[in-house]
Amino acid sequence: MSRPKPSERMKMPRQEMPARDALGRGHDFAEVNLGFDPALALAEATRCLECANPTCIQGCPVGVDVREFVRLVLAGDYGGAAAKLREDNVLPAVTGRVCPQEEQCEGVCLLGKRIAPLAIGHLERFVADWERATGTVALPKIAPPTGKRAAVVGSGPAGLAAAGDLVQRGHAVHVFEALHEIGGVLVYGIPEFRLPKEIVREEVENLRRMGVTFETNVVVGRTVTVDELFAEEGFDAVFLATGAGLPRFLGIPGEHLIGVCSANELLTRVNLMKAYRFPEYDEPVYDCRGKAVAVVGGGNTALDAIRTALRLGAREATLLYRRSEAEMPARAEEVRHAREEGIRFLTLTDPVELLGNDQGALVAARCRRMELGEPDASGRRRPVPIADSDFEIPLDLLIIATGTTANPVVQATTPGLATDERGYIAADPETLCTSRRGVFAGGDIVTGAATVILAMGAGRKAAASIDRFLTASSGAADRSGPAGESSPSGSEGRA
Ligand code: FAD
Ligand code: SF4
Repeated sequence: MSRPKPSERMKMPRQEMPARDALGRGHDFAEVNLGFDPALALAEATRCLECANPTCIQGCPVGVDVREFVRLVLAGDYGGAAAKLREDNVLPAVTGRVCPQEEQCEGVCLLGKRIAPLAIGHLERFVADWERATGTVALPKIAPPTGKRAAVVGSGPAGLAAAGDLVQRGHAVHVFEALHEIGGVLVYGIPEFRLPKEIVREEVENLRRMGVTFETNVVVGRTVTVDELFAEEGFDAVFLATGAGLPRFLGIPGEHLIGVCSANELLTRVNLMKAYRFPEYDEPVYDCRGKAVAVVGGGNTALDAIRTALRLGAREATLLYRRSEAEMPARAEEVRHAREEGIRFLTLTDPVELLGNDQGALVAARCRRMELGEPDASGRRRPVPIADSDFEIPLDLLIIATGTTANPVVQATTPGLATDERGYIAADPETLCTSRRGVFAGGDIVTGAATVILAMGAGRKAAASIDRFLTASSGAADRSGPAGESSPSGSEGRA
């Protein structure tokens, strides 16, 4: 069949992602989206205009050659499309599910100006799933051993991306992870119904097959320090990718009450420790069955937490957000899915006090209505309290999801490691060098909470920098502790 002309393609509707029925899916943890089949993938790929200046590529933080991989989908060469994706993106089955495409590649796709952007994320997921289902994941070539050893601290997307690139360059790579499972936020934060853990496990297995070694339950800074990694364990370089997983609280009266927790705690217990299968799994979680539950926040974490509470049996699941829906940082698809599942959105609402009973348990939140004022430093309109507008909502559980900050252990135990004023590790934006020679840092621990693809991009940048450092240094990495300090604004050539 001949392909429609570009003018006709511009009128073709975008193919929708098939999803499970909204009411049924709100009761279990199985994945919500079902994925494209080959017919849908072909219909969607047909829409691509194959632009001479493909803005989609510029919109992707790691520069995936979208036009070419879509062309390969159109040609039915799914293996070729997967290989093309993997040139720039080592976790396509993950990013195809969780990237905020509407702000990236799809946000600048030229089709978006006419009808609707190409569903690049859905096509990415289709290709990556096809590759997994057919067992055809092609592992990249590994260079001959260099004799150099790199330690990666933290196994989130930044650490995994760096490990994959470093091992390909022939360096021995050992990943240290504080938790008992590899994957960072991909396993402990993002719930099964958005990103099945099996997908992350398969990617980790691929890295193992490439030669990366993993060690869990090691808190660097406690079990072993960065200095010891150099001086006692014989590593030549260290990449710090410890993330921003420390929850922030609201600082309002009543936060100590029973029935108030951070999204981080709830999600970790449920995702990583399978608390929803207690007592089969030895991990309790707050009993949401028949309870009134709310989350404070408007990001992906807030939505993940409240949709998790719904699946744990909450009678009422409410999201409290102090700005309007237009300012919510969560992905548009997640907002839509949450609404479909029956999550109640109370926007322009800010909790100012949590009220308890004489047992010290939460019974209600006193909230204040807000209106939008002038834009603040984030560019979003600032929420301004409305006088005399307080009201109470009865609650059994309140989940706080108003942001996280740097995991602090490594900074506190690594002499000479410079941090910024917020406690994040200071690293050169181009080389990801820190103030310690041979020590590099990237991902959320440098930028603050961001996205999976940006963390992966940082991991790849760090790997390139570490590779230059290792090949230039011929074993001259700093193994001497603070004496080897240098400025994060320098280059790895300082070695
Ligand atoms: P992390 O993924 O946080 O990994 C850091 C790892 O380091 C962790 O495993 C931690 O246990 C380990 N670690 C910490 N300290 C030590 C130590 N001292 N020793 C050893 N190990 C240590 N982004 C998107 O793009 N799309 C989404 O839909 C999305 N949803 C999200 C939902 C939730 C609930 C959360 C919390 C985040 C979400 N994000 C999303 C953000 C994204 O997941 C993060 O930006 C990304 O995971 C950061 O990667 P990272 O590798 O820097 O850190
Ligand atoms: Fe295709 Fe959109 Fe990229 Fe143009 S901008 S090549 S239409 S995906």
